[in-house]
Amino acid sequence: MKLTSLRSVTEKREKELNKLNIFDVESLVRYYPRAYLDLTSRVSVRDVFHNDTALVACRLTAVEPVRYTGRVKYIRAFLEQNGDVFTAIWFNMPYLATRLKEGEYLFYGRVQNKYGQVTLVNPTFEPLDKNRRLKGLIPVYPLRGTLTQRALRDCISQALKVEKITSAIPEELQKKYRLSSLSEAIFQIHAPDSQKSVEKSAERIAIEEYFTLISAFRLIKGDKNEARLRKYSVTREDVRTFLTRFPFPLTKGQSDAVEAIYQNVTSPVRMNRLLQGDVGSGKTAVALTGIFMAVKSGYQAVYLSPTEVLAAQNAALLQKTFPEYKVGYLSGALSAKEKREVKQAVARGEIDVLCGTHAVLQGDVLFSNLAFCVCDEQHRFGVAQRNILSEKGDGVDVLVMSATPIPRTLSLIFYGDLDVTTIPDKPKMRQEVSTSVIPQYKYDDMLEYIRKETGAGKQAYFVCSKIDDDEGQVTSVTELYEELQSRLPTVRFALLHGRMKEKEKAEIMSSFKKKEYDCLVATTVIEVGIDVPDATIMVIYNAERFGLSQLHQLRGRVGRGSEKSYCFLLVGTETESAMERLSVLKHTTDGFRLAEKDLELRGGGDFLGTRQSGRFLTEIKNLKYPTECIFTAKKLSDEAFERGLGREEIRIAAMKKYESLKDVVLN
Ligand code: ADP
Ligand code: MG
Repeated sequence: MKLTSLRSVTEKREKELNKLNIFDVESLVRYYPRAYLDLTSRVSVRDVFHNDTALVACRLTAVEPVRYTGRVKYIRAFLEQNGDVFTAIWFNMPYLATRLKEGEYLFYGRVQNKYGQVTLVNPTFEPLDKNRRLKGLIPVYPLRGTLTQRALRDCISQALKVEKITSAIPEELQKKYRLSSLSEAIFQIHAPDSQKSVEKSAERIAIEEYFTLISAFRLIKGDKNEARLRKYSVTREDVRTFLTRFPFPLTKGQSDAVEAIYQNVTSPVRMNRLLQGDVGSGKTAVALTGIFMAVKSGYQAVYLSPTEVLAAQNAALLQKTFPEYKVGYLSGALSAKEKREVKQAVARGEIDVLCGTHAVLQGDVLFSNLAFCVCDEQHRFGVAQRNILSEKGDGVDVLVMSATPIPRTLSLIFYGDLDVTTIPDKPKMRQEVSTSVIPQYKYDDMLEYIRKETGAGKQAYFVCSKIDDDEGQVTSVTELYEELQSRLPTVRFALLHGRMKEKEKAEIMSSFKKKEYDCLVATTVIEVGIDVPDATIMVIYNAERFGLSQLHQLRGRVGRGSEKSYCFLLVGTETESAMERLSVLKHTTDGFRLAEKDLELRGGGDFLGTRQSGRFLTEIKNLKYPTECIFTAKKLSDEAFERGLGREEIRIAAMKKYESLKDVVLN
């Protein structure tokens, strides 16, 4: 049903809703709150603590005009409650200027209490209308742009009256497993009777969403041709001889993975495999051995990397490992003529192994005899790209590698169409990275330490979180770079961020590797696979904003050589939960344990790129037992497919879901 069929949705409002990825009435009722305001728990500003999230009834007395600090716009309002004066501040929301008027309001947001001066940071607010009685729990939605909470609530409550909500789970199974009604759950999530009812409804909705998701992946898998078209003639003996090319014996985990691949390529079934392993577990050697199996059998192979920097690094490695074969390199940085020549050589079958970024996925790259495809750090590729990949040749064997360990529950969903091989161990003699949280008052000491260490030939990374952030408080990477330069004038700093051209990034990385710089100040672009053995210090700003897995990845950039390495975590906003999470990181070096912990603490959204995650797992908040919901959904989906129940309904719902997450990228 079209959004404009609702009374309160004008064309302007429709556009606002579109920005939240809401395109029809169905997606409107499935736009879930991120929190609830309990109107019975209003507080007095006298009682609030720093970093509390508080609901305050007060009078707005004045609003300042929009101001700037650096590139950040902000607005401030003066508030009063029983004679106590305090303020509210909003960063980068200049449009609020016209909306804030003198009067009575409810404000809800994070409290900053500095030296007794109370400020609410980016609070949501609601005029306190005497005539309008607000019920106990008020939903708060994730919003962007000019839409207000109240307007969205109105739209949703109208939508709930007209939209007929049906579950994709076959009725028979709903009965058998005593699932409650989906439409009642959706109604309750928007207008709950109690906190208890929120939890119960969130659970029912989560089961529904996971059910559709898991079914979608299953359907996609079902469409693929699974029969092997190319026979590999490589023998176990060949593989054993090849392995002596590495300067080290494989670990047990690596050998098992090689064996799994060998069995697969010599079986009648096409390979579609995920190779999981923590940073530094040596996935590359396994992938190279897989490539060997293909080229030795007379076929072509391709090795895809997520960034130009890594593609170049891997091309060099391939050339070294396969001196008797022809290795080609295709990158966006090549001239048109060079690209054409590489493509022609690939098409004629003169190139045995092609290395490159996703540019290799473009339509005009044709292979003469492609059999094996390695996709490194696959989580940087979207779900849809993975499918293009396996269509590059008939019955291509695909090995995707992920360094972000994913909890089993989530891999069931994302990689439901893949076999999973895990490397559980790591090469010995690696040193553990010492991890510590650095309090503000020790920041100067830390810089001084880094000055000394870099003077003695060590190298360091400084990482800050994404440039775009609505809180406007994130130290932007460029500012940080300038600040560090002025504070440590004898240290040579380089700057690296995602908005730079790939070529420029590659140049900076290689200069850093050659020690032309001591420190690299960067955004998370450095997270993926970069290997600089002399870097021994990793400093992470606003560490509380990252997921544990991501922090673990970043930490994995150091501790690669024989020197003792350090990871320093700086915290912008010290909340209890953030400190708890960071202490987990300090005591755990196992990426899989961290991933499970992340799922427990932050929910599934942490594993997804931000672009679409609002439409995805993060949309279900208030879930006490996400893992259980996933297992229940999996069981239901298995049974529905086995017994052929509700085929058409499931297909429709699943494809709709798949459309909406095509571009989802795992973090
Ligand atoms: P990742 O799994 O993170 O991709 P890499 O494949 O980049 O890890 O390997 C990390 C480092 O460990 C590389 O320098 C590689 O040469 C080395 N390495 C890989 N396997 C072994 C092994 N079995 N013994 C010792 N070193 C190894
Ligand atoms: Mg790697």
